[in-house]
Amino acid sequence: MSASVIDFVATEARFGAHNYEPIGVVLSRGEGVWVWDTEGNRYLDCLSAYSAVSQGHCHPKILAAMVEQAHRLTLTSRAFHNDQLAPFYEEIAALTGSHKVLPMNSGAEAVESAIKSVRKWGYEVKGVLDGHAEIIVCANNFHGRTLGIVGFSTDPDTRAHFGPFAPGFKIIPFGDAAALAEAITPNTVAFLVEPIQGEAGVILPPAGYFSEVRELCTTNNVMLVLDEIQTGLGRTGKLLAEQHEGIEADVTLLGKALSGGFYPVSAVLSNNDVLGTLRPGQHGSTFGGNPLACAVARAALRVLTEEGMIENAARQGARFLEGLKDIRANTIREVRGRGLMLAVELHPEAGRARRYCEALQGMGILAKDTHEQTIRIAPPLVITSDQVDWALERLATTLTQDFS
Ligand SMILES: *Cc1c(COP(=O)(O)O)cnc(C)c1O
Repeated sequence: MSASVIDFVATEARFGAHNYEPIGVVLSRGEGVWVWDTEGNRYLDCLSAYSAVSQGHCHPKILAAMVEQAHRLTLTSRAFHNDQLAPFYEEIAALTGSHKVLPMNSGAEAVESAIKSVRKWGYEVKGVLDGHAEIIVCANNFHGRTLGIVGFSTDPDTRAHFGPFAPGFKIIPFGDAAALAEAITPNTVAFLVEPIQGEAGVILPPAGYFSEVRELCTTNNVMLVLDEIQTGLGRTGKLLAEQHEGIEADVTLLGKALSGGFYPVSAVLSNNDVLGTLRPGQHGSTFGGNPLACAVARAALRVLTEEGMIENAARQGARFLEGLKDIRANTIREVRGRGLMLAVELHPEAGRARRYCEALQGMGILAKDTHEQTIRIAPPLVITSDQVDWALERLATTLTQDFS
């Protein structure tokens, strides 16, 4: 590392809370699938800010929409109407087939808002006794970092010493429909689940799981809340990951790529019943639904469909997955994923995934380890075949090394 890089890293360490352990690269520019560090070295971004920059870094059309809107009007609060919110509602509802939209900012806020809404629906529509609503969630879930959410996490790092936590959540194994059937009671208002568990290491459920889940939820009048903050908006090769399963959620959560990485924008999408229970004054956000966010989100959604990014994610994802499966390396335990949401799980004897990510950095690829043994690979959806092949060559070289 050069003096200036060491300086940035040391200053962050001195003043910042140490709640991250970044790879030792200081980025200063991005374009499409590429990012550059302060020394001018170029890297293929295989994390895409945890899928928030799916449209590629600094997409020119999203940038133009943001700059144009920033010159006109940025924030009104919801005390007044603005001329970007209605078209945002119309466009996202048409795209996703939703009836109602609640705009928020971060993903965690969308999750919190959904929890509040389904509880309210439980009391006011389903008829659950006030204070008794139960929400079922899955082990190894990741839904964000707020107190409400970390309270039902099963990851000790995420939870430890942040309690006491809110009651009302039941945890069942992911991918086990029988466990869901057993956990549902008359007080169950919702099942909150990721279509693919991203942070847990890109864990796909068994085939048929979600059709059983859908049926159980419908039969028992339980709202199926799909957290598509990471899987949504083309990441898995379809607009929503639920489409792979042939089902429709009652409540869908979007965030991350909803703004193409320019600005925090999230949304709760639902049928009329759930969000219909919210009355004036019962929920809100100063920045939620602001004109800048809406203009950015509208452009982010437009380029996703107009530029064929979702189809490209399916095509390049298949190519990438096949290429990863072709790598013959003793270090690899399993390769898995859907679309451009991919992961390479290493054998425990291969050494920590972090070490491989550092080696990849040296080869011009930025990827992120998760849970010690897994390298996640999720490039922007604009990646080309040549770039996929370029990455595969470097991954093959790195994964055949021994860092144990
Ligand atoms: C990232 C993520 C969140 C939280 O989003 P933030 O914007 O970081 O609050 C929630 N759920 C899933 C599945 C995520 O990947």
